[in-house]
Amino acid sequence: MELREGRPGKSEEGSLLAIYDEVARCNRCGFCLSVCPVYAITGEERAVARGHNVHLQDIIEGRLMISKELKQPLFDCLLCRACVENCMSGVITHHNVITGRAAYMRTLGQSRLLGFVFSKVLPDPKKMDFYVRAAALGKRTGLDRALSALGVLKWFGRDKDKVVDLIQHLPLRTFRQSPEDHPGDLEDADRTVAYFVGCGTNYALPYVAYSTVRVLKAAGCSVRILDNVCCGLPPFSYGDLDAARELARRNIEVMAEMEVDAIVTDCGSCSSFLKEYPDLFMDDPLYKEKASTVRPKLKALSEYLGEIGIPELPGSLDARVTYHDPCHMSRYQNLVNEPREIISRIPGIEYQELPEAGWCCGAAGTYNISYYGQSMQVLDRKVENIKKTGADIVVTTCPACNIQLAHGLRRHGLGCEVLDLAELVDRVLMQTPS
Ligand code: SF4
Ligand code: SF4
Repeated sequence: MELREGRPGKSEEGSLLAIYDEVARCNRCGFCLSVCPVYAITGEERAVARGHNVHLQDIIEGRLMISKELKQPLFDCLLCRACVENCMSGVITHHNVITGRAAYMRTLGQSRLLGFVFSKVLPDPKKMDFYVRAAALGKRTGLDRALSALGVLKWFGRDKDKVVDLIQHLPLRTFRQSPEDHPGDLEDADRTVAYFVGCGTNYALPYVAYSTVRVLKAAGCSVRILDNVCCGLPPFSYGDLDAARELARRNIEVMAEMEVDAIVTDCGSCSSFLKEYPDLFMDDPLYKEKASTVRPKLKALSEYLGEIGIPELPGSLDARVTYHDPCHMSRYQNLVNEPREIISRIPGIEYQELPEAGWCCGAAGTYNISYYGQSMQVLDRKVENIKKTGADIVVTTCPACNIQLAHGLRRHGLGCEVLDLAELVDRVLMQTPS
């Protein structure tokens, strides 16, 4: 990675200036300190919303140069929005942080590996399939050799051995590679939906995708599998806004072509970011318009089931269940009641509310890779709270949280299962009435 020090260039100055009022609105009151998961474990001012806004104001006012010393403060944030929710001044710090990351990336450059992944791999499903399959084979046949050959482990740094343990098994066949399991049109369907298959679901948790399809069909929907690419959230979170826009344009085109009642996804991060597409194109009226046209059809699975009604459930589930709120569901989309409402409708379940259910689990996209140690400290708090519920099953609605929670429960030797909401409903659907 080539690093230089410098003042932001013209375009970065423009984007930083655009957030100046937002940054300056932070009155340094410190209400955000008590809710920031990173501050809770580090106690460092630079890692909390107030610190982020001070740094950004200093850059914009010319007191601070963009330099590699800023990488840690800018990137050590989960983008969980807990600070935003608790800020009386309404400062949207997560947005400010991403704008700061974008300025950093453009001024100092990004690593070749990240650039390759964001611009060459994510837009190309064949390349994605190749690298994920290589990683899956590597896991079965000597992971270090295979991943080292791809240069991937360098990125993980000193925690590489622990990072690769995050996902226990990578399936050899993705959801998209198993067309025989996909549904055709449902005769007499009440409605037709397009299913946006997120990368996490497709590659790491394909069984969640099967469940989603079965649940939607049981709810009376014909399901078309959308020919989408990555939603663009990973490059966006890193500040690579051009790569995010390129992926968004591809998805907008395929979504705009679909004549369906809704576009549904089981990934809370994808649904949240897809809904934000119009904001990505403030300077591109054509795509802003196209994204805005698609926007009303975009639904998280639980949101859509809440609207059309959950399928009739032939069985019951004798289990104590709790629910973890992914930040991208609860804080980004205000979808808090919808998943709980669905769980409460399943006969036999004893629901136990999770203490601090909205506290981030520490996955935060790739935060658990970049800051593995801190991510595990954030996760430990979540696992301790899960323990208190005595739950047999913890349900969530985002693959990144799903993988992170399963990792945490394994680390703590807790015999509690992690299920996506779609799998939970599907488990009851699969039962035949006695
Ligand atoms: S971000 Fe909001 S809560 Fe935090 S110090 Fe600034 S004004 Fe206060
Ligand atoms: S977004 Fe989350 S991690 Fe980042 S400063 Fe706000 S509360 Fe802390």
